Amino acid sequence: MTQNSILFERAQRSIPGGVNSPVRAFKAVGGTPAFITRAQGAYMWDADGKRYIDYIGSWGPMILGHGHPQVREAVHAAVDEGLSFGAPTEREIALVEEILRLMPSMEMVRLVNSGTEASMSAIRLARGATGRSKIIKFEGCYHGHADALLVKAGSGLATFGHATSAGVPPEVVQDTLVLEYNNVQQLEEAFARFGSDIACVIMEPIAGNMNFVRASVPFMAAARRLTRTAGALLIIDEVMTGFRVALGGAQSLYAQAIEGFAPDLTVLGKVIGGGMPLAAFGGPRAVMEQLAPQGAVYQAGTLSGNPVATACGLATLRLIQQPGFHDQLAARTRQLTTGLQNAAQAAGIAMRVDSEGGLFGFFLLPTLPQNYREVLKTDGTLFNRFFHGMLRRGIYFAPALYEAGFVSAAHSEQDVADTVDAARETFAEMAN
Ligand code: PLP
Repeated sequence: MTQNSILFERAQRSIPGGVNSPVRAFKAVGGTPAFITRAQGAYMWDADGKRYIDYIGSWGPMILGHGHPQVREAVHAAVDEGLSFGAPTEREIALVEEILRLMPSMEMVRLVNSGTEASMSAIRLARGATGRSKIIKFEGCYHGHADALLVKAGSGLATFGHATSAGVPPEVVQDTLVLEYNNVQQLEEAFARFGSDIACVIMEPIAGNMNFVRASVPFMAAARRLTRTAGALLIIDEVMTGFRVALGGAQSLYAQAIEGFAPDLTVLGKVIGGGMPLAAFGGPRAVMEQLAPQGAVYQAGTLSGNPVATACGLATLRLIQQPGFHDQLAARTRQLTTGLQNAAQAAGIAMRVDSEGGLFGFFLLPTLPQNYREVLKTDGTLFNRFFHGMLRRGIYFAPALYEAGFVSAAHSEQDVADTVDAARETFAEMAN
């Protein structure tokens, strides 16, 4: 027995499914998950001493790679000062000021501990600010596991084939409208029917929880126009895309394409914590000041703005502002996606790829999907063979076809070349 399987057996005795977040269990792809003992740069090592080139990066936060010396130094210094105070600190202001400078659509930000909390709170704020109940989300977009959002959600839920989670009463989701991503007509119809009752639309600008599907420019423009006209708020969930697809997030890309584009509220996570539990939501002062203690919308957290997490996030945000950082990251990511696509083509296997900054997706399909329904056309068995072929060769991709991939600044040209070599071998194996 391997150390990984011994640990997995032991974990399953005391932790549901042996994991603390479902996708880690490899249920979609089968097999035993790797138990990680340490990570450095672009690599992770498992309990059997096997090294992997890591394209998950803790599901997004590790944009600098693992164990960046300046981040570690900042975290160590913060630990020496104290782990948690439950009182305000200057570092929280510094982090929020940094976020506001990089994402000018926001005037104020509140820090929380997870993306789930951030989107849940943003929706409560939107409902409180508008006095309305209905919300719109899109099929295949994931915004965390708050009850009202577990409606045909993507990610782990899609993997397990459940349309909704048990334990969520129908009355909790009765005001959540789930529409098709990139479908302007459906969105127009929803606003025509319910416009004056809609508090907000929440969306991933590039949906990384159905692999990698971009919101088309007309779709994003329609979401902006319809919300504004109806007096609803547009919430852009940049938990995955924020600071990763571009320094200013996906919203900076849509602002280039759509005149006057800015979301009302932005949800952040992952990169802003640099690997520590930290997330945020923000928007205009007039809306944000409706939060407690100034306003009537309650929101709180024992560990919110934690001094170690903010030190880690601040060091990370400062390092990714080095000139050319995102250009280099984007070029390395394209080296990977182009290499994968060419390797698939050489073996006669249909694959389409897309990427933005350090976020990428690949589909074992002849065309890039535009919505969740099209993503579901992927042959899961084929994906699983690819995943395990790569894993055996020391390449760690997400263990589910619904997940985006993540490249870090620590991935070298050689790492990517080695990955493409492994893909060539794997595809050749699959074609036989
Ligand atoms: N929003 C998006 C777009 C995400 O990708 C995720 C998590 O993957 C979340 C929200 C939830 O964040 P967390 O897992 O920190 O609760």
